[in-house]
Amino acid sequence: MKAEIISIGTELLLGDLTDTNASYLAGQLPLLGIDLYWISQVGDNQNRLVETLKRAWQRSDLVLTTGGLGPTEDDLTREAIAELMGEEPQVSPLLEHNLRERFARRNLTMAANNIKQATVIPSAQAITNPRGTAPGWWVEKDGHIIVAMPGPPAEMHNMWQTEVMPKLQQKSTGAIIFSRTLKVYGIPEGTVEEMVSSLLSSTNPTLGIYAKADGIHLRFTAKAKSQHQAEEMIAQSETKARSILGDSVWGKDNDTLVEAIGNLLVDKGLSLAAAEYSTGGLLTTSITDFLNSPTFFKGALIVNSNEALINYGVDAQTINDYGVISPEAAQAMAEAARLRMEADIGISITGVVGPNEVEGKPVGTMYISLDSDNHKNTIAGLYPGDRFRIRRWAATAALFRLRQMLLNPD
Ligand code: AMP
Ligand code: MG
Repeated sequence: MKAEIISIGTELLLGDLTDTNASYLAGQLPLLGIDLYWISQVGDNQNRLVETLKRAWQRSDLVLTTGGLGPTEDDLTREAIAELMGEEPQVSPLLEHNLRERFARRNLTMAANNIKQATVIPSAQAITNPRGTAPGWWVEKDGHIIVAMPGPPAEMHNMWQTEVMPKLQQKSTGAIIFSRTLKVYGIPEGTVEEMVSSLLSSTNPTLGIYAKADGIHLRFTAKAKSQHQAEEMIAQSETKARSILGDSVWGKDNDTLVEAIGNLLVDKGLSLAAAEYSTGGLLTTSITDFLNSPTFFKGALIVNSNEALINYGVDAQTINDYGVISPEAAQAMAEAARLRMEADIGISITGVVGPNEVEGKPVGTMYISLDSDNHKNTIAGLYPGDRFRIRRWAATAALFRLRQMLLNPD
């Protein structure tokens, strides 16, 4: 089945909106064995929209659109599909009833404009949208299909997962493509490649190696008749890779580093507190991104001056003797955070994120410390790049350091 995606909305062409809907759908189609040939973006203009739809209808079996299903005048997807099909949109009494009920439940009056969200054409079936007011359209004629979905990503994802994907699954007969990603930290990309070289020559599954912000990703991709079969093929290669790379593999697929560490802390019943100088809370933000963080994370001292450090209980003598950009200050910060917040482990970052050097230390100098009753440890790093990259590297390195400590407590 040959597919094409059309993202609709002038915001896309103005550069105001990134087309995450197209990326999402592009990632989903291989799981169904559907080949994607084209992605287009078109503004809220009926003539250009009809032109784009017409070309897609002629050359593709399946056309997926997102956007333009809202109630306002610039939402023209229904009108354009109706024009392409040469059919008249009609209000469906059932859809109108559902729409009015939706407004009534929320105690809102429905604007007259909204009624167009209750229209269909003879070739279209409405697709329910529990997350919003705009139903989708499933249009099927002469062996071609157009599926029109709403623009807001949460509505679109939900409609895709619960309504559209299951229907397409039944229609597609192609081989499916399934991927699994293993995430590795602490080994450089080239070394990872050498270590797993025996797996690189395989053509099904294939293995790709990519350097990312959270380390190295190994992506296995298999083509098979079913997802189950593809998963089995990948499982064999995955087992081999895991035995070669050992502890350096910290997660897979959508796992985040903080999730992996948080789970370790919760398993061990340990709590954490942080201190950050110059990273502005980036480490703390990463930790609190994890939903479960309140179960193990007590809080952080986020400071940008020596006085504040000292006020928060970091030893003044240490700061005076060694400066704030020093392994000694990092260790004192981790200890102060731990004691002040009565946590089991303290973690800290101090360093120079630029643009200027501090205390004679060059931009990119970073010290990361861990502190617990029986473990004190500081590492030093010199990270390249701009402020953002240096801070991100430091926060990631701190988390990996913590993971190492949790895995090898002695
Ligand atoms: P629309 O239904 O076209 O009025 O779109 C409503 C909202 O959905 C837009 O303002 C965006 O926030 C979001 N949206 C629409 N199209 C896309 C897209 N292709 N990718 C990501 N978000 C989108
Ligand atoms: Mg729009």
